[in-house]
Amino acid sequence: MQNFDFDLFVIGGGSGGVRAARMAAQRGARVALAEVAAMGGTCVNVGCIPKKLYSYAAHYAEAFEESRGFGWVGEAPVLDWERLKTNRAREISRLNGIYSQLLESAGVKTIAGWATLRDGHTVQVDDQAFTAKNILIATGGAPTVPAVPGREHVLTSDRIFDLQPFPKRLLVVGGGYIACEFSSIFNGLGAKVIQLYRGSQVLRGFDEDVRAFIATEMRKAGVDLRLHADVAAITRTTEGLDVQLGDGQRVRADAVLYATGREPNVQGLGLEAAGVAVNGKGAVEVNAQYQSSVPSIYAVGDVTARVQLTPVALGEAMALVDHLLGPVAGKNSRTMSYDFIPTAVFTHPNIGTVGYSEADAREKFGKVSVYRADFKALRHTLSGSAERTLMKLLVDDASDRVVGLHMVGPDAGEIVQGFAVAMKAGATKAVFDGTIGIHPTAAEEFVTMREPVREVAATTLPQHPLWNKNPI
Ligand code: FAD
Ligand code: NDP
Repeated sequence: MQNFDFDLFVIGGGSGGVRAARMAAQRGARVALAEVAAMGGTCVNVGCIPKKLYSYAAHYAEAFEESRGFGWVGEAPVLDWERLKTNRAREISRLNGIYSQLLESAGVKTIAGWATLRDGHTVQVDDQAFTAKNILIATGGAPTVPAVPGREHVLTSDRIFDLQPFPKRLLVVGGGYIACEFSSIFNGLGAKVIQLYRGSQVLRGFDEDVRAFIATEMRKAGVDLRLHADVAAITRTTEGLDVQLGDGQRVRADAVLYATGREPNVQGLGLEAAGVAVNGKGAVEVNAQYQSSVPSIYAVGDVTARVQLTPVALGEAMALVDHLLGPVAGKNSRTMSYDFIPTAVFTHPNIGTVGYSEADAREKFGKVSVYRADFKALRHTLSGSAERTLMKLLVDDASDRVVGLHMVGPDAGEIVQGFAVAMKAGATKAVFDGTIGIHPTAAEEFVTMREPVREVAATTLPQHPLWNKNPI
C-alpha cells in the first residue's frame, strides 16, 4: 500500500475547507490545509460577516430616525465610515486568528500558498509537493463582471468593504442577493443609491410576492431601483464616474458595484492535469458523495456552484468527512439534504424564506392554499416609518403540509430559522394552527393566519383584529 504524507489534503481555508479539515483531524486523520489568502474564506473576509456588520451599521440610521416617535430628541449622530471600517477589520482579523487556532488545536497542518493539483494524490504548494490519500477542493468562487466598456472602473463585493472615501453616489448593477443587500446597506449608510436590474423584477427565483414586496420596500426606503436597465459604458471624469445607461440616460457615480454573479475558483488549480471534470458552469462536477471524476478527489461548497451558502458548504463538509472516515462513535452518518434550505437576504427590511415559492409549489403539488398577511408592524405605529411586513404560507392541500414560508420584514432571517425546523420535520398547517403565538410579535402571524387567499395578487389584510397588526 502506498504511503501518503496525509490522509486528507484540503485546498481552501473557507467555510467548507476549514470545517472538513477540522472535523477530519479531530477524528484522528492526518490533515493538511492550503490557503492562499486570509483564513476563513469568503464568508469571514468579504461575505456574510462583514456584510452583516455593515447591515447592522445601516440599520442604526432607521433607528435614529424612528426614535423620535418614541420621544427621543436631539441631533442624530453621523456616520464615521473610517471608524466602521477599522472596527470591522479588527473583528475580521480576530476571526482569522480563531480559524487558524481551531485548525492548529485540531492538529491540522496549515500551509500558506497557492495549491495546484498535480495528479489524483499530489498537491503542489509553491515549490513543495505533498501526497494525500484523498484531496478536497474547497476553493470557493469569485465575482464575475461582464465585458462592459469601462469595466476597469467598476468594483465587486470583494472591494466594497474598504472603499475610500465613502461613496456618496453608488450605482449597483444586478438584482441578486449581493446587489439587493448592498443597495440597502449603502442606502442606509447614507449613500444615494441607484440599482439597475436587467430583468422585470429583482431576486429571480424567489416567490413573486416577495420580489414585488421587497422592491416596493427598498424604493420606499430610498433606493432608486430601475428595472429593465443596464449599463452601456463607464468613463472616468473629474466629477466621478460617468455612466451611460442602455436607454441613453447618464448617471454620475462615485463608485459602481457590479454584483452580477460569481464563478467557481478553478483557474490555475490544475484540474486538467489531475483529470478532474468540470460541468457547463465551470464547476467541479461531483456525485452524491462529493466525489469528482477522479475517485480520490472530492469537492464541496461554492466551487461546485450548487447552493452557494455558508451553512450548505459546512453541511457538505461534515457529510463528506463522515463518508470518508465513518460516523462519529454512537452517531449516524451525517448526510446533506437539499430540501427546505432556509435562506435570508439582508435587505432592509430582510427577506427570510424556506421551501417552495408559490409558482414552484403549484407546479410540484398542484393544489396549494395560500395564506398571506401584509401589515404595518407595531413598532411603526409610533416610529413614523411607512415600512410594511409581508408573511406568506403555502400549504399542500393533499397532505396539509406547509411547503413554503416567506417573510419580508425586520429580523425575517431570525424568525424563519425556527420555522425551518418545523417545516423540515414536516409540520402541517394543523400543527401551525395548534401552535400558540408569542404576543405581541410579528412572528405570531405565521401561526394565526386562518383563511387562505386564493387571489394572491390582491393585497389581503389579516382576518383578525390584532392590535399590533395595524393594516393602515
Ligand atoms: P470560500 O469561503 O470562498 O473559501 C475558499 C477559499 O479557498 C478562499 O479562502 C480562497 O482564498 C481559497 N483558495 C482558492 N483557490 C485556492 C488555491 N488554489 N490554493 C489555496 N487556496 C485557495 N452565505 C450565507 O450563507 N449567508 C450570507 O449572508 C452570505 N453573504 C455573502 C455575502 C457576499 C458579499 C458573498 C460574496 C457571499 C456571501 N455568502 C453568504 C456566500 C458564502 O460566503 C459562500 O457560500 C461560502 O463562503 C462558500 O464557502 P466555500 O468554502 O465553498 O468557499
Ligand atoms: P446572483 O446569482 O444571486 O445574482 C446575480 C445577478 O446579476 C442577477 O440578478 C442576474 O440577473 C444579474 N446578472 C448576471 N449577469 C449579468 C449581466 N451580464 N448584466 C447584468 N446583470 C447580470 O449572484 P450574487 O453575485 O448576487 O451572489 C452570488 C451568490 O452568493 C448568491 O446566489 C448566494 O447564493 C450567495 N449569497 C448569499 C447571501 C445570503 O445568504 N444572504 C448574500 C450574498 C450572496 P438574472 O437574474 O437576470 O440572471
